[in-house]
Formats: sequence, structure tokens, C-alpha cells
Amino acid sequence: MPAVPDDILDYTTSCALPTPWAQFTLHAFVEHATGKEHLAMVLGDISNGEPVLARVHSECLTGDVLFSQRCDCGAQLEGALRRIAAEGRGVLLYLRQEGRGIGLVNKIRAYRLQEAGADTVEANLQLGFHADQRNYGLVKPMLEHFKVRALRLMTNNPRKIDALEKLGFSVTERVPLIVNRNAFNTGYLDTKAAKLGHMMTPVEEAVAEDGEL
Ligand SMILES: [Zn+2]
Repeated sequence: MPAVPDDILDYTTSCALPTPWAQFTLHAFVEHATGKEHLAMVLGDISNGEPVLARVHSECLTGDVLFSQRCDCGAQLEGALRRIAAEGRGVLLYLRQEGRGIGLVNKIRAYRLQEAGADTVEANLQLGFHADQRNYGLVKPMLEHFKVRALRLMTNNPRKIDALEKLGFSVTERVPLIVNRNAFNTGYLDTKAAKLGHMMTPVEEAVAEDGEL
């Protein structure tokens, strides 16, 4: 029997988590190397082999909790949970890698540089970081815990799809999450599209197949 290659975190415990949209089950994991606590919100039977509607969401305290309009994270988090609730089945992984992996204080430093004219990528580089420091390796043992192999992934980020496919998951569909473009984040979203390859163009509504409009 091969050694466990992904022994980088442990499943710890679970509880019911009622939200405005559905009652999820909240699962807690602890990462060995850092002690960071990562979460999975699960609805329905996701272990039955059918592709699972999924969101891999990286922590954004300012956007997820403090209602910041500098980014689209809070709206993406809510939008993903609403969509999972509407389908009655899915998983949201909440990874504690704040600020594309640079941490909260450094993200605030980066915001300050952006107020002086840098864009989000330039600010990270000026602080000595890569444009995106996130590591999706955690996703593998978390999803394997639930026996999930195929995803319908809610994301605008093609690099996230590539990362998950390299980890061995099948991404059978990309579900766009284009929400909360506003006067404060339009430059940020444009930079993510231009420099990080995010797909920010809304998908046109499918024309009614029966020809009736
Ligand atoms: Zn954010």
C-alpha cells in the first residue's frame, strides 16, 4: 500500500451550520505545517460519484466579513453558497490563505500602495511577493475526505482550474461567478482579467431551445 502522499492536514470535527439559504454541515481541518484551520461547508450527498458543484474560496477577511467593496470576494462567497443551496448539493472549501496568500497586514499594505497608484499585482510585487501566492494543495486531502473526484467549479480563475486538474480532479464544468462589480473594484477586477487571466465576461443567457422568446 502506497504511503499517504497528502498527509498535510487532519479532519477534526463537524457540526450543523444553518445559514439564510440552507443548513450546511461545517467540517473543520487542521493543517500540520501551519496549524491553520481550514473549513468545508457541505450540502447534500457529495460522495456519490456525480460531479459536485464546488467553490474553492480563499479567505478575504475584509471582503467576506467587513463588507469591503474593494474586491468581489464577499459577493462571491454569498453567491456560491446561494447556488449550492438552490441545487441542494455541493461543497464550499474555505481556505485560510488571506490576501492571495500574503496575509492580512500585508494585504492592507498592498491596498495602501494601490491608493498611491499601483495595481493589485504591482503592489504585491513591490512588497516582495508573487502576484498570487495561493497554494491549492490543501484541496486534495480535503476533497478526498469526502470522496469527491469531479467538480463543477464556481470560479472566474483559469489558474485555479489548472491547479485542481493537476491535483488529479476532473473539472467537468466552469460555473462563472461574476458578482458585485462596483465603482471601487472595477480597476481591481480589470487587473485580474488583464494580468491574472480571470474570465470576467458574463456568459450570455442561453437562448430558449424551443424558439420561444
Ligand atoms: Zn477580497
